[in-house]
Amino acid sequence: MQLNYDFLLLIFTDFGCIHKMYVNSNCVGCSQCMAFCKYEAISVFGKAVISEKCVNCRFCVSYCPMKAIEVASKGGMS
Ligand code: SF4
Ligand code: SF4
Repeated sequence: MQLNYDFLLLIFTDFGCIHKMYVNSNCVGCSQCMAFCKYEAISVFGKAVISEKCVNCRFCVSYCPMKAIEVASKGGMS
């Protein structure tokens, strides 16, 4: 049985091995991150909101021009 990358990400997330994503106060609601997230996990309502669809691939972290998306510490996600 071959495990793909997406499946492994979901397993690690469920066991808490990968931290959740967090949108900080730098977000200006430009919506650029929505285009970068292939999992359609980001919505923007004045500020970006990351949904449960997020698999923590972290692509959005490097693409946000405001450096507004971070990896949250455990228990620190909002
Ligand atoms: S997280 Fe970054 S790319 Fe996404 S809406 Fe906010 S500022 Fe724009
Ligand atoms: S970490 Fe990946 S899946 Fe999660 S919001 Fe960012 S681009 Fe989308």
